[in-house]
Amino acid sequence: MSQKIVIVGGGIVGCMTAMALVGRGCEVTIVERNEIASQTSGESSWAGGGIIFPLLPWQYADAVNALTRHGADSYRALSQRLLAETGIDSDFVESGFLLLPKFDVATALAWCAKNQVPAKSVKAADFAVQSLSGEDALWLPTVCQIRPPYFMQALRQWLLQNKVTLMERTELKALKQCAALNTWETVNGETLTADQFVVTSGAWSFELLKETSAKLNIKPMRGQILLYKPEHNLKQLVYREGFYMIPRRDGYLLAGSTLEDVGFEAAVTREVRDEIRAKAEAIMPALKGMPIIKHWSGLRPGTPENLPTIGAHPTIQNLYLNTGHFRYGLTMAPASAALISALMLGETPALDASPYACLQ
Ligand SMILES: Cc1cc2nc3c(=O)[nH]c(=O)nc-3n(C[C@H](O)[C@H](O)[C@H](O)COP(=O)(O)OP(=O)(O)OC[C@H]3O[C@@H](n4cnc5c(N)ncnc54)[C@H](O)[C@@H]3O)c2cc1C
Repeated sequence: MSQKIVIVGGGIVGCMTAMALVGRGCEVTIVERNEIASQTSGESSWAGGGIIFPLLPWQYADAVNALTRHGADSYRALSQRLLAETGIDSDFVESGFLLLPKFDVATALAWCAKNQVPAKSVKAADFAVQSLSGEDALWLPTVCQIRPPYFMQALRQWLLQNKVTLMERTELKALKQCAALNTWETVNGETLTADQFVVTSGAWSFELLKETSAKLNIKPMRGQILLYKPEHNLKQLVYREGFYMIPRRDGYLLAGSTLEDVGFEAAVTREVRDEIRAKAEAIMPALKGMPIIKHWSGLRPGTPENLPTIGAHPTIQNLYLNTGHFRYGLTMAPASAALISALMLGETPALDASPYACLQ
């Protein structure tokens, strides 16, 4: 008999987890308090930039890079599959990534060589980055991007076509400690029953589980992004000292982002808008005086060292966690979904699960 699974949270992590589980014959329901693939109150997946690569991977532990690498490797085929099966294009593009100083170029080149990531030392001027003509830079030609709102729409459509039940506008109550989980109540008093549950509630995961024995270190970290439509767009992703710019296929340009520890406050701010605008104009002076078409924010599920929690709850039977992907949830989601679904179904996962285990 097929396993009945309830997933709590319909961001990219929840949706990819559902895709992995339904592909293995499970009967899956996603419970989402808002609407999947929509911009609502701070959910991270819609808001993300969509760079399918960790900004400076040499700064992260191997366990973080294992997930980003496995996730990134699957995106081309995944986007093609979603396009073929839903008709929705996620705007997957191999734009390449131009990294501008300052960073340790020798360490970066050594890491790229060791991890078979094509990389080349270049001059920024060769890439028509107007303000930095003489600067040395690093070019990573195979780095890709997706457009998160489109990718999420494609996923939502795929899940509907594949008989995943989407319980939208339904919020689950915070969980109390128990020995085994068979039912979970919504805030409206409805009781959901399943063989197994998975928490994929992003920045809200700690709130949901704080009365249980799980030792979760997850807090919201706000990021803001500006949207432009310049006359002449960049051709590649550009990064400089924590800041990046993402040119879209249809001429739009994203500039961001910030890392703000402001709790669950999802509002955008004028100060950050000015700060991002100044950084964007420093790289691309032609943006001076250009209108900002949109300004938005998202709450990332922030975790120390960017290490997510993927595995069984330490004491509650039938409960799993797939959460805390912080800055790279878009990149990691396919690998993280493959890992949690293997653990839930008693299969041997492709990646070593031990670094992501949930502690008590
Ligand atoms: C500005 C910004 C830029 C980013 N850029 C990138 C990037 O370029 N590349 C990259 O890889 N990553 C990027 N990220 C990070 C990435 O977006 C996140 O890591 C990822 O979206 C997390 O996905 P999630 O599904 O865990 O969380 P979310 O998308 O936040 O989804 C969690 C869901 O759970 C729901 N939920 C919460 N509580 C409950 C409840 N009690 N009941 C029911 N539902 C509930 C919420 O409504 C929400 O929809 C960026 C993030 C931001 C904010």
